Amino acid sequence: MDACLAASLVSAAGVVALPLLYLWGLRARGLGQAWRRMRLLLASSVAVLAALSLLSGGWDAGTVAAALVLVAAAQALMVQFFERRVVTEAVYGLGGRSVRVGVLASRQPTAFATAVGRRVYVTTALYQVASPEEAAAVVAHELGHGEALRPLPPLLGLAVLALSAAGAADTVVALATMCPLAALLSAAAGLAAWVFYNWAWEHLADIYSAWLTGYAALYALERITGAAPEPPPGNPLRLLAAAYASARPRRGPQRFFLVNPHPPPGLRLWLLGRVLAGGVTSPGPAPAAAKPQ
Ligand SMILES: [Zn+2]
Repeated sequence: MDACLAASLVSAAGVVALPLLYLWGLRARGLGQAWRRMRLLLASSVAVLAALSLLSGGWDAGTVAAALVLVAAAQALMVQFFERRVVTEAVYGLGGRSVRVGVLASRQPTAFATAVGRRVYVTTALYQVASPEEAAAVVAHELGHGEALRPLPPLLGLAVLALSAAGAADTVVALATMCPLAALLSAAAGLAAWVFYNWAWEHLADIYSAWLTGYAALYALERITGAAPEPPPGNPLRLLAAAYASARPRRGPQRFFLVNPHPPPGLRLWLLGRVLAGGVTSPGPAPAAAKPQ
């Protein structure tokens, strides 16, 4: 098949299917169902990016190795940067394991995790706004980011995402002179896949936190974002517009800029409220690592 036509078909399918999958995920009735639907969205988003990247030749072993090394090096630099700024440590018992958390001095109440060593960091300001249960829920959310990528180790999961995104960008550039319309459509689909991957990832971390800490996950998110639950837009086009709007970089803790788009806090609260109302012990398989390891 002609590359322009193939890219157009993959892109059209992605732009239509991903928002619909997301809306379906938001309508899950319990934690287990929401977990499975958001995992499907995560995988589908990577599949769209991977399919686009295959159109410009895919990856060889050398590229894969280089991507792994680059992601690992970036993560190692990040860990080094933050380790030097740790003022104290906290320990949480979550999901049957004990988790050591680095505390950073900052006026911004936030938390984040690194893929290498899965180190979780929280800021001192978090303890000023959150109760102990809510702080534990925030730590559980950060662990959830790693759990969401299983069975891939987080580092490999990130490398696959980075490779697929870079390959998709390659395809857009390659098509730009041959067939500008197909290139434009591919860019739109690639960006949508990037956003919905990150949105699904964020919801999965929320769901995992709710699994381990119940309503504290919802209260913590409410307190940190100051948002109220809001139902998803009925019109998928409005959802797609919100997805594109969330793709701009945001200011992160310290000197970092964050490029991973987050879903609107109102939608995260809406899904959490909905699945928690279904009962924390609702039927359906638990996220694998919620079992003690
Ligand atoms: Zn998160």
